[in-house]
Amino acid sequence: MLFMHSCLHAGGAQYFVLYGSCMVKKYFLCAFLALFYCMPVQPSASPLLKQAVSSFIAEQSQPLVTALPTPPDLFQALWPHGLPPLRASDMGFGVPNNTHPSLFTVPRHASTVLHKLLASSNAAAGKPLPYGTIRRVALPPGRKAVALTFDLCELQCSVAGYEQGIISALLRYKAHATFFMSGKWMRSHEERALQLMAARGFEVGNHAWTHANFAIINKQKADEQIEWTQAWYEHLREKLGRMAEAAGYASMMDNVPYSMTLFRLPYGRCTPASLTWLQEHGLHVVQWDVVAEGMHGESVAQAMHAMLEQVRPGSIILFHANSVPEHSLELLLFLLDYLDKKGWECQTVSELMAAGKPEYSPEGYFRTPGDNASIDGSFGQYGTGE
Ligand SMILES: [Zn+2]
Repeated sequence: MLFMHSCLHAGGAQYFVLYGSCMVKKYFLCAFLALFYCMPVQPSASPLLKQAVSSFIAEQSQPLVTALPTPPDLFQALWPHGLPPLRASDMGFGVPNNTHPSLFTVPRHASTVLHKLLASSNAAAGKPLPYGTIRRVALPPGRKAVALTFDLCELQCSVAGYEQGIISALLRYKAHATFFMSGKWMRSHEERALQLMAARGFEVGNHAWTHANFAIINKQKADEQIEWTQAWYEHLREKLGRMAEAAGYASMMDNVPYSMTLFRLPYGRCTPASLTWLQEHGLHVVQWDVVAEGMHGESVAQAMHAMLEQVRPGSIILFHANSVPEHSLELLLFLLDYLDKKGWECQTVSELMAAGKPEYSPEGYFRTPGDNASIDGSFGQYGTGE
């Protein structure tokens, strides 16, 4: 009967694909051999038949060595050897601020314009995006998920790095994550940005062009900060599309959105007016309810403890992957292990929002309203320490 079972098993989809036209022949052989072996003991069974049976059984137990030609995602298709080694450019200082993306004369790509038009027509139809900053998401009872978010800021006054270990850890744990990239960071870390856009489970959001302070910037400058970053994303998406097409994976671009729909306020700073401007661009403003990295020189152990005190289902957790705060990688590894053992999911912000009800605040802040107000006097409107 064991033999009969293996015959039935041979009808599985993968087997059918691999063996194709041999199937009918195999079934006949299978049925014949099964009949033969269900008969009373056959002391005179020929050695040839025995050999045929044993080779058939051996064939059944072979692993399917024919690998599927399609890699699981665009990142693995284009970077089959994994993340390329770190280079000096990954850890450079932020370039001096400028007011213009270098390769653009008119940085207004079609989908950025369409995205904004869609937002205004929705608003005209009485369906504007909810106003305010998303702090966390209320999930249905029993649902255990959080969103890990990583800012990739580029300020003129600090390192605009790229922490490879963080990306490797997320890939290893198959943890979904959202990266908020400043436009300048995308420009100075082009290949890294392309990899994050290509990897399934990673999502990219807008973090302004020069990490500008949206509490003290005027509307015209804020629009530039938003639109140049949107446009640069689209510029990179076009490039990724050309790479995918050249490698024969053009269809995988379907998973890479045309336009970013999420925005993170640099320093968490905003005004009611700037929140309205972002709403007009059709962008969800996503902040956090958990600050993972310590802000006052805490030890790793203290920061871990403080982080776990805050994490709950539906949390949006703030990290950085730009090598500026301390202990980011240790904290992330600790958290990934903790969540994995508890069976909690790590989702992108969009996935988390779709799974529950986002909770909004009319303000932007780190832990309590107003706790970041001093930033307005410390940095200029472009966020450079000018
Ligand atoms: Zn930032």
